[in-house]
Order: sequence, then structure tokens, then C-alpha cells
Amino acid sequence: MTARVETDTVVVGLGAMGSQALWRLAREGVDAIGVEQFVPGHDRGSSHGESRIIRTAYLEGAEYVPFVQAAWRAWDELEQASGSRLVVRSGALMLGGPDSGVISGSVAAAEHHGLAHERLSADELAERHPRHAVRTGEVGVFEADAGAVLPEASILAAVRLARLAGARVWTGRAVTRIEPDPDHPRVRVGDTEIRARRVIVTAGAWLPGLLPGTARLGGGIRVERRVLGWFRVTGPACDTSAPEPVFAREEPDGALWYGFPSMDDGRTVKIGVHAEPPEVGAGTTRPTGSQWGEPVDPGTGPRPPDGADARRLGALAAGLRGVAPLPERMASCMYTMTPDEHFLIGRRSELPGLILAGGFSGHGFKFASAVGRALADLARDGRTDLPVGMFDPHRWDSPPAHP
Ligand SMILES: Cc1cc2nc3c(=O)[nH]c(=O)nc-3n(C[C@H](O)[C@H](O)[C@H](O)COP(=O)(O)OP(=O)(O)OC[C@H]3O[C@@H](n4cnc5c(N)ncnc54)[C@H](O)[C@@H]3O)c2cc1C
Repeated sequence: MTARVETDTVVVGLGAMGSQALWRLAREGVDAIGVEQFVPGHDRGSSHGESRIIRTAYLEGAEYVPFVQAAWRAWDELEQASGSRLVVRSGALMLGGPDSGVISGSVAAAEHHGLAHERLSADELAERHPRHAVRTGEVGVFEADAGAVLPEASILAAVRLARLAGARVWTGRAVTRIEPDPDHPRVRVGDTEIRARRVIVTAGAWLPGLLPGTARLGGGIRVERRVLGWFRVTGPACDTSAPEPVFAREEPDGALWYGFPSMDDGRTVKIGVHAEPPEVGAGTTRPTGSQWGEPVDPGTGPRPPDGADARRLGALAAGLRGVAPLPERMASCMYTMTPDEHFLIGRRSELPGLILAGGFSGHGFKFASAVGRALADLARDGRTDLPVGMFDPHRWDSPPAHP
């Protein structure tokens, strides 16, 4: 026997993006159901590990800046509504060679949008940021409008507020099928079929499995493993009254890694690898423990961290002063990568009634507050004034042939 339930909008997956969309819908009085296969704030997707960097001078492209600015405003709204601190405003420090992507990209975005930033020489870096063992030729960019967002706390806050505003939240229940339809898309959860006006699909690493057509978009969506490591601070102690900035650092071989000092009263510095060296030349290999490109089946989850991961992270942490040589704990996590590493937000014509948000390519969390607003707008009105056009899921389609 199939039970049938009706609602206006279903949100499939209550992680970073889905939790915010559900809250936005519920506070606007839209009848909505959110379905999450685990419990909100879990550690089996892409949104665990206690902290995510938020920066405004966006090195991935100046065109992101208006969207980050919208996200800052939306984080303020969530903080005020929940009464919780969800963003730590520590500033961010970028380190690398003067021509590295991390430096040139941040400066280009800051200059294009007139954002406050400071360019630092190697001597200024060494004096002002002694945590970093600066190499000859390295320079820095400091941005005050940056810091860390707390992922699990944000998801829990958004889901709690969504419930309070009247959303129905189904947890520990997986969506097994989504049937697109322009008027009444349907979602299957066990023996229950939910008939809705719109379905928002925010299933993270599970999106390509749930809607198989999306797995091929742009040449292929890839789910990859990444590992985070927490290194004990041995000295100098982090200054918790004025938190040390979060950072991203590009190595001479192109590896890009990042870290968060002082998130736990200065006990540890957490680091992770965003991208490994882009090229492996003849006779050379990637560093032991490289995490770039290792595919993951989200059904089984990423391989647990091992000794090779600890050594890889330890080799990078050698660029920090006053931390232990190996991590005291580690966690595995998933990136869902699109071919151009830009997000997927919007509709696909062959999936009528559905609104997708996925492929956040390892840099989506900071935008979750604005993504939630955009998804709620799209579900309710069919349009949004937020700048999500560059994330159009149709962007790779070949242009129609002209006679
Ligand atoms: C190690 C790491 C470091 C990162 N660092 C940063 C950073 O510093 N700054 C930044 O901005 N971004 C960062 N990111 C990226 C950011 O965290 C992700 O882009 C973001 O969390 C993705 O959110 P999501 O909602 O798409 O996925 P998730 O948060 O994983 O949510 C998807 C949810 O859908 C649920 N779900 C899936 N299938 C079903 C189903 N069938 N039925 C019901 N529920 C389902 C899942 O259980 C999950 O809860 C990082 C990511 C990782 C992994």
C-alpha cells in the first residue's frame, strides 16, 4: 500500500544547501517537507569538520563576489534568527608566489570590486603572521571581510528554524525515486509518495545517483575524497582574543591547501588539501597520500584516513610554526566536482518541476545561505534576483544548430 502526501515543495537532502532552502520556504509560509536520509549535521557527506572558509575577494573568479556579498547578508539573517554565532570573523590570509593563482586571483577580485585588502611582502608576513614559515619569494594578501562558517551548527540552526516555522522534517528516511513532472513532480520515500508543486534536489554527492542524467553534465560530475587533519598547537599559543586568520596557501608545485587556527580555543590548527599539484611530469609522481581525484561511491563513503594521509598533511603542516608534525585526528569527506568547478543551480528542461543545486566543487559552503534563498525564490516564483545565472545547469549544452 502506498501512502500519499501532498505539499507545495519537497527538499531532498538537508545538508548545507537543503537546510537553508527549507528554512527560507517555511519562514515565507510555504508548505514544505524536507527529507534527510541521516540526521541533520551528520558526518557522512560534505558538510562536517567544524569549519569552512568564507572569503569575499574570490580567487576563483571576480564574478562570484556579488554572490558572496549576498551570502554574508543571508548569514547575518540566519545568525539573528537563530541567536547563534555561526560565522567567526577572523579575516583570511592568502600565501603564495606573486604570480600564483591564490594571490593573483584574490587581488584581481578585490581590485575589480574595490574590496579592502592588504598586500604583504615576505617581511611583513613574517612579522604579522608568525604562524607561517614564509619561504623566499612568498607574498601575502590579507582580507578582513573573511573568516570561518560553522557547518554543523549552521545546518542544525536552519533545520530547527524551519521546523519552528512549520516545515515537516523527515529524518533517517532516504528518497529512493524522483519523478519529474511540470505540474506535480513526485518523490518516493519508502512506502510513501509525496506529490508536490516543486521539488528541490540538494542531495550533494548523491545527486548523480539519484538523477542519473546529471552524472554526465559537462562531461561528468566526479565525487572525490578529501581528508582533514587537526594538528595540536605546541606554541606559540593561538591568540583566541583576536583569532588568527584562516588561510589558503599555494605551494610552488601548485598544491593548494588551507587551514583554520584557533577554532577550538587555540588547541589545534585544522588543515586540508583543496587541490594537489596539477601536473605529473615524466619520471615524477604525486606526493605520497595525494588526495586529488580519488573517486568515491557515496553509497559506501570515502576511505577512512590512513598513515599516508597523515604524512601528506604533515608535509604541508611543516609550513606552519608551532604545530605537532602529525595530526592528532583526521576525517574523510567528499567533494562533488563539476568539470569547470562552478556550481549547478537551477533547472534542466528534461527534469520539469525540479530545481537542482549541486556540484559545489569543494567551495560551496560559504554560499549556502544565499543558495537557500535562491532555491526558495526559484521554487516559489520561478525566478530569483540573486546572481545564479553563471551556475545554469544548461551551460554546457551545445548551441542549437542554425540552418
Ligand atoms: C573537506 C572539505 C572542505 C571544504 N572546505 C570548504 C571551505 O573552506 N569553504 C567552502 O565554502 N566550502 C568548502 N567545502 C565545500 C562545502 O562544504 C560543500 O560545497 C557543501 O558542504 C556541499 O553542500 P551540499 O548541500 O551540496 O551537500 P551535503 O551538505 O553533503 O548535503 C547533501 C545531503 O543530502 C542528503 N541526501 C543525499 N541523498 C539523499 C536521499 N536519497 N534521501 C535523503 N537525503 C539524501 C545527504 O545525506 C546530505 O545530508 C569543503 C568541502 C569538504 C568536503
